[in-house]
Amino acid sequence: MPVLVFDLDDTLYPELSYVHSGFRAVADFLSPRLGVPAETLAAGMIAEETAQGRGQVFDNVLRQHGHWSKALVAACLRTYRQHRPILSLFPDAERCLMRFADWPLYIVTDGHKEVQARKVAALHLAGRVRHAYLTNRYGRHRAKPDPHVFQLICQREGVMPEDVTYVGDNVRKDFVGIKPLGFKTIRIIRGNYAHLEADAAHDADRSIQTLDEL
Ligand SMILES: [Mg+2]
Repeated sequence: MPVLVFDLDDTLYPELSYVHSGFRAVADFLSPRLGVPAETLAAGMIAEETAQGRGQVFDNVLRQHGHWSKALVAACLRTYRQHRPILSLFPDAERCLMRFADWPLYIVTDGHKEVQARKVAALHLAGRVRHAYLTNRYGRHRAKPDPHVFQLICQREGVMPEDVTYVGDNVRKDFVGIKPLGFKTIRIIRGNYAHLEADAAHDADRSIQTLDEL
């Protein structure tokens, strides 16, 4: 039986929606402390992220309102990471999970394990896949491109790598570690890495524009 494995961020749902959901939680936290409406703060964070990227969003918003402190930045980060996000699958991901509902389905995702677990919960994926492998639970060195959790999937299903197809968006790390072992790979062209050109080692076997092509 073939096995289908999906990446999470920007493969099954838009990662930026998580970021914006986190900004709203931080804005609610900061609003009474800064005496600024949460809507204004959230809009400021989104504008800051669009212009400068994520690295300094909380520092810069706190500075703009004259309230920067190391402790408050840390509290913002905690609020962001611990918030319960409200997320939706991409429409094509929803259709795809329905279409392949009878297949053994898995998720393999890197990142902060509690954050990733909250995303899986918010997307109601627990009942739709056999398991969501959060590589971080196995140690940082098991993050992609390390093939460890893909090998766990083979053991669990009693299949060879050739029977397992991984669908992901990040050509920097999603495919390069598992391709040499025989896993099949499919790149979905969207998200932050959509415009990256990949060499033969990093690229997937096939590329698709939407999961409807799977
Ligand atoms: Mg991804």
